[in-house]
Amino acid sequence: MSEMPTCIGCGAVIQTANKGEVGYAPPSSLTKETVICQRCFRLKNYNEIQPVSLTDDDFLRILNGLGTQDGLIVKIVDIFDFNGSWLPGLHRFVGNNPVLLIANKVDLLPKSIKPGKVIHWLKREAAALGLKPVDVLLVSAHSGRGMDEAMTAIERYRKKQNVYVVGCTNVGKSTFINRIIKQATGEGEVITTSHFPGTTLDMIDIPLDDGSAMFDTPGIINHHQMAHYLDASELKYIMPKKEIKPKVFQQNPGQTLYMGALARFDFIQGERSAFTVYVTNDLPIHRTKLEKADELYANHKGKLLTPPSEKYIDQLPDLVRHEFTIKEPKTDIVISGLGWITAQDANVIIAAYAPKGVEVFIRPSLI
Ligand code: GDP
Repeated sequence: MSEMPTCIGCGAVIQTANKGEVGYAPPSSLTKETVICQRCFRLKNYNEIQPVSLTDDDFLRILNGLGTQDGLIVKIVDIFDFNGSWLPGLHRFVGNNPVLLIANKVDLLPKSIKPGKVIHWLKREAAALGLKPVDVLLVSAHSGRGMDEAMTAIERYRKKQNVYVVGCTNVGKSTFINRIIKQATGEGEVITTSHFPGTTLDMIDIPLDDGSAMFDTPGIINHHQMAHYLDASELKYIMPKKEIKPKVFQQNPGQTLYMGALARFDFIQGERSAFTVYVTNDLPIHRTKLEKADELYANHKGKLLTPPSEKYIDQLPDLVRHEFTIKEPKTDIVISGLGWITAQDANVIIAAYAPKGVEVFIRPSLI
């Protein structure tokens, strides 16, 4: 096999096999003298960034590269899947560069929440995870909410230096950057792509007006997220598109909730308590008795308990049990990528089940 060319835009090695990954170009483009990857092509011709992802090793290489450059790191997380979309260890790679933390998809949270409280929560969680951002902002790249503030903050903190936007796949990084491109360039102006000097960081840059640039880095796939266990046609049952309507369940010990066939929540011990479920509105929740729960799952998964549907249920890993003793009121039990359940009262013992590989943990309540 002859050696593959590199993209004249970002310098990535061209590949023709995987559309969602770095360096993809259609096979026909290989006959041309110079080859441009699809991501750079779209940026050049349509002023639009396309999401791409990377393997863990390559992502580490990019993170390592970031520490050697001067500039502002804009880290994007998904507020609905905060921990699942967190890039662990980023703080170890960024060197002395400031990090601006942007939590996207705020439109999914109930309108009644107080943004100040969520920002306070984000600062505390970020600090607990080892990151001290220069600022924390809430945005909806989709609706545009908070985007002006985000752009102003980027301008302020970058101090005329480059900007590097990082985030795991699906946090909405491309939507965010595309909105900035639209607002910054207006109509008619075509953005160019250029090689990142001296390295192969596989980033593409969007020139800012003073000779600096905003760099889009590929996203990394977080393997412990629920989304990787579902067929694309069923993602709509876990990824909310609209404001989440919390559902409150007054539970007695000995009761179980099934969220489709994807997760299970047992109330094992404690006084009668309220549990508030924050998952996408389309996910059916089924209440049953704990003593009947195993049997119900064995007989009805993929049917009464769905998604996944019967067609895909066999692809779902077995559910794994995680037991927690809740000592503080207002504690979230988080199922990575699916949502969370807030235990309103302290002194309860619960068990949450999720497919093997999906993270389940507790945290102080977000809302
Ligand atoms: P990337 O992989 O990080 O580049 O993410 P994309 O920009 O491709 O977005 C991933 C998914 O999240 C898409 O389905 C978007 O429509 C959705 N999305 C992006 N931004 C928002 C937002 O602000 N609110 C909501 N509700 N969805 C968003």
